[in-house]
Amino acid sequence: MDYPEQYQNSLHNSGSYWLEQAKNISWYKQPSIGLRHGADNSYSWFDDGQLNTCYLAVDSQVEQGRGEQIAFYYDSPAAGVKQKISYAALLQQVSVFAGAMLEMGVAKGDRVIIYMPMIPQAAVAMLACARIGAVHSVVFGGFAANELAVRIDDAEAKLIITASCGIEFEKIIAYKPLVDKAIALAKHKPKKTVVLQREMLLATLDVAMDVSWDQFVEKAQPTACVSVASNDPLYILYTSGTTGKPKGIVRDNGGHAVALKLAFNGIYGMDENDVWWAASDIGWVVGHSFIVYGPLICGASSVFYEGKPIRSPDAGAFWRVISEYKVNSMMCAPTAFRAIRKEDSSGSLVSKYDLKSLRWVFVAGEKLDSSTYHWLQDLLQVPILDHWWQTETGWPMTSPMMGWDSPSAARLGSTNKCTPGYDIRVVAEDGSEVDVNQVGNICLKLPLPPGVSTSIWNQPERYQQAYLSTFAGYYHTGDGGYIDEDGYIYITGRTDDVINVSGHRLSTGEMEEVVSSHEEVAECAVIAVNCTLKGQIPVGLVVLKTDADITDEQLQADLVAKVREQIGALACFKDVFVVQRLPKTRSGKILRAVLRKIAAHQPYQVPATIDDPAILAEIEGHLAKYYSR
Ligand code: AMP
Repeated sequence: MDYPEQYQNSLHNSGSYWLEQAKNISWYKQPSIGLRHGADNSYSWFDDGQLNTCYLAVDSQVEQGRGEQIAFYYDSPAAGVKQKISYAALLQQVSVFAGAMLEMGVAKGDRVIIYMPMIPQAAVAMLACARIGAVHSVVFGGFAANELAVRIDDAEAKLIITASCGIEFEKIIAYKPLVDKAIALAKHKPKKTVVLQREMLLATLDVAMDVSWDQFVEKAQPTACVSVASNDPLYILYTSGTTGKPKGIVRDNGGHAVALKLAFNGIYGMDENDVWWAASDIGWVVGHSFIVYGPLICGASSVFYEGKPIRSPDAGAFWRVISEYKVNSMMCAPTAFRAIRKEDSSGSLVSKYDLKSLRWVFVAGEKLDSSTYHWLQDLLQVPILDHWWQTETGWPMTSPMMGWDSPSAARLGSTNKCTPGYDIRVVAEDGSEVDVNQVGNICLKLPLPPGVSTSIWNQPERYQQAYLSTFAGYYHTGDGGYIDEDGYIYITGRTDDVINVSGHRLSTGEMEEVVSSHEEVAECAVIAVNCTLKGQIPVGLVVLKTDADITDEQLQADLVAKVREQIGALACFKDVFVVQRLPKTRSGKILRAVLRKIAAHQPYQVPATIDDPAILAEIEGHLAKYYSR
């Protein structure tokens, strides 16, 4: 079957299509129900299925004879360590760690926060949670204590698993003090903290609260996988929404496993025994789906890289990894290639390595600019494939199907066509569907395929409000764009206040909360401007209190430090401009759509509520310096 036939089948016979896909993984109880429709557009998949995601990723691979095959190639230029972890070794580590958690009192359904750098023990912890039916929530190591505290409270975590430190370039970042501070800030108190001691910086442990990883597993007995319901949660992953409070995206077990099997084989074109590399971090959805679960469920080998694209030790690090592990395909955000290009614009470092194994490169997470695309394509001489998805979906919504016959060719500027089960429609503000090539809100017609999150932890009503209430019958992705006459999708950018810094999604609302908490600030807006390296970076527009007594330099220094302290360095918040007024609606709301257009140097209509054009001229004056970037 070719793409049009398969794709149409996934939409029109969705229940039977996905039940067929479900046969590609092992279940303790094979589901007999594919799609179940509920009231008010609600739906669920595989209701009566029973399985275990850790079993699929680890035990089942060993049972199929892959014990000696490498599950993870851990490669850390940061720590100067390389390690090959076989499926058999992984099984041993995961089953013992899971046993230790059980002995500590972690039960099915309990939440466990994993705040770790890119070390394989992070994957061991994730898989061990899945093994006993505990729900993990991995928090990216770059987040500040305050952000971690918010997640501890929301998830009501019973256990925290961390490491003594992470490494950013040559800088060692102590994690344990951050975790201690987060626990002190949180209202909910976890029972214990397990600390993996890294030799470059040992953490001081509290006898009552902390236990080292080694001690934790020392006397533990390995434990077997428990059977969980298909719709039981596997993990919570917090992502930025448009408000200050992050959304805890809940992922199920069954739909997720079925979708990842299809995605890894069908979309990425990877098979068992292939070597795959998702150059990301376990703190992001890419890390969950395609560093850990997807490749292992499919019996492939996954590169687990703790380093940067540049200065690791040079800008040839990616090429070295590809050649050393004979990587067949990789995925990362375009920002990584922009960083490499900045250091080695001619790409001369490629010639030091043999990249014959590489079949194609996937990029996602932010817009792929044409200049990076051409540079990379010319340099690597393999297809560069843009594809599009988000934390909520857990797997790509548009992509070429590299594992199917005759995949759709790449089309510059497009993230390709819909993958199975995704019915993308472009919707105008009034809810009507627009014509081809017309820009509008990119929406997905309900129901969504398996694996896509259908709830936000602790706040089911927020899921409705954030995704389903804007356009009845559709899931609202928050992205704008259009579809051409051949069904190719073009993503033009977010239509809300989520911004994308180096492929990381951040909420401007969250930064505004931090900025406006400064005692001299009356009000503020944080908006994104273009950045050649990071895609977007935030800048603050600040109105001072009338009696404020602070220099612009001091204000900038204070605010930059505050955002770094409360959100983390990953926000890259560096520029602040003091303005006289912000443009507002009559009801007093800041006109963000106008600010976004000014920042992007796009034409806009001066809203009727703006009585003084000088308000916008002043902002344009400040932002003009970013137009050429
Ligand atoms: P995240 O949930 O962090 O993965 O971020 C998802 C958001 O990143 C999407 O809603 C898009 O705004 C953006 N994004 C992801 N992939 C692409 C892509 N290939 N092109 C343009 N934007 C993308």
